[in-house]
Amino acid sequence: MAEIEREAMEYDVVIVGAGPAGLSAAIRLKQLDADLNVVVLEKGSEVGAHILSGAVLDPCGLDALIPDWKEKGAPLTVPVKEDNFYMLGEAGKIRIPNFPMPPLMHNHGNYIVSMGNVCRWMAEQAEELGVEIFPGMACSELVYGDSGEVKGVVAGVFGLEADGSYGPGTEPGMELHGKYVFLSEGVRGSLAKEVIGKYDLQKGKEPQKFGLGMKEIWEIDPAKHKEGTVTHTMGWPLGGNAGGGSFIYHLDNNQVYVGFVVHLNYKNPNLFPYMEFQRFKHHPIVADLLEGGKRVAYGARAITEGGYQSMPKMVAPGVALLGCSVGMVNVPRIKGNHNAMLSGKAAAEAAFDAIKAERSGDELTSYETEVREGAIGQDLKKVRNVKPMWSKWGMLPSLALGGLDMWTNTLGFSLFGTLGHGKNDAESTEEASKHKTIDYPKPDGKLSFDRLTNVSFAMTNHEESQPCHLHLSDPSVPINVNLPKYAEPAQRYCPAGVYEIVEKDGTPEFVVNFQNCVHCKTCDIKDPSQNITWVTPQGGDGPNYPNM
Ligand SMILES: Cc1cc2nc3c(=O)[nH]c(=O)nc-3n(C[C@H](O)[C@H](O)[C@H](O)COP(=O)(O)OP(=O)(O)OC[C@H]3O[C@@H](n4cnc5c(N)ncnc54)[C@H](O)[C@@H]3O)c2cc1C
Repeated sequence: MAEIEREAMEYDVVIVGAGPAGLSAAIRLKQLDADLNVVVLEKGSEVGAHILSGAVLDPCGLDALIPDWKEKGAPLTVPVKEDNFYMLGEAGKIRIPNFPMPPLMHNHGNYIVSMGNVCRWMAEQAEELGVEIFPGMACSELVYGDSGEVKGVVAGVFGLEADGSYGPGTEPGMELHGKYVFLSEGVRGSLAKEVIGKYDLQKGKEPQKFGLGMKEIWEIDPAKHKEGTVTHTMGWPLGGNAGGGSFIYHLDNNQVYVGFVVHLNYKNPNLFPYMEFQRFKHHPIVADLLEGGKRVAYGARAITEGGYQSMPKMVAPGVALLGCSVGMVNVPRIKGNHNAMLSGKAAAEAAFDAIKAERSGDELTSYETEVREGAIGQDLKKVRNVKPMWSKWGMLPSLALGGLDMWTNTLGFSLFGTLGHGKNDAESTEEASKHKTIDYPKPDGKLSFDRLTNVSFAMTNHEESQPCHLHLSDPSVPINVNLPKYAEPAQRYCPAGVYEIVEKDGTPEFVVNFQNCVHCKTCDIKDPSQNITWVTPQGGDGPNYPNM
């Protein structure tokens, strides 16, 4: 293929992804020096279109970045007033009182927010400071310099032929070069994955771990709505089949976020995370709340769960990984937005110092030091054993021992040291023959919905004429390996119904309905043969979340 000619634009810092991490970095850079040229590229059709969090926001990140965020009209208007935690059985519940929980678990002082709206507001703040933000621009490739450093990205490739080649209607995009490139793509970033592999950044660290988070927005009967109420549950319906739990957050306007997280290290390939979520809504605690209401949006996204011991080295020549491209979620708190913001701020400060010293294209080591030793590291270190305990010993022992460990860590020590995670989530999947199949009740269309109906509420869109962005390293693996060994779990772990096995002339065939993809990245993580690579489709494709 002939070399593709592209125009190049020069910036001080190129930022990939307009989530809380990327936008914080952009804002901080311009606060430090209004003359810096900073660009943010976002694959969603608008800022916020691909943002999916709970979210209960710990405002510490925003406090550090924009101390007068209240005066500036930040959409943090629903303080948490009530915090409930239940252990569920099939029909009953036991309330876990708040007092034995370590202080870090309390939500007092936090806000129930739409992170999509918070990001939209942050983008306005950034633009007022002079940051250039380009939504609808996917960064599909990294550009390397002569010394092997990351020197930029390719963004804005549109109209590829269905086989991925360039045709008469293809726009080749452009190169955006920076003294430094920040990858703030969120969980399982595709460019971040390349950088982690190329520079061997995971070496000596535990594997990254993930969960799959699914979420619906409901408008409910005003009489049942209690603005500011936060509820978390564990137990039914997952039981011993997988780790995970739910969240129910009452925001304003009679809306409620109902979400469910399944840890992706589950062993039984017959488990169907989406159907677990739908079943969960039939528990009386949820059904009573939602009855008479309507679901107005649906979405899904993976969440990082490896924590402190899984964070890769986060700098390489010319590039820094931010936020959940590193994995900064505090798992027991289910919170990562505050750390994403703090990481953006720290990366910006490191780049500002470097550029002032006329450096470029090298490693921003002071950023990494700040993340590991500063507020982010301290936040994650205290809870580092909760996830490995749950994986090794199950929910109840980990609740007791994890609670004890969080308490002792709050006092400055741990009886357990730092526990490892062992396998990655793909390797955790066991053969189907070792496990029972699970019967899921049919969705009733009122509280629970079939997957494709729900996907239409993610407003996702990918042009059919585009190349499939879900690459199979070996197209024969789904039918020849995954189907006989694992009952091809892609049919079930994908929360958007992208993967199907259909019978054609009596022969099973693997179908990839990439148009349905909601960019959660679960397939890239959980495929037991590690045969699927998620690459970014053209800009503007994917979900169009409202106030997720
Ligand atoms: C179900 C669920 C519930 C959660 N609940 C909470 C909660 O209650 N509180 C909390 O604090 N945290 C919560 N989190 C975690 C939180 O969402 C993450 O920690 C946070 O989103 C990380 O921010 P980020 O900026 O690193 O990435 P993201 O928020 O994921 O933003 C990344 C952005 O980069 C864009 N992007 C990615 N790749 C490219 C590319 N190649 N080119 C251009 N653009 C690209 C994406 O479209 C996206 O807009 C939850 C997560 C999930 C999944």
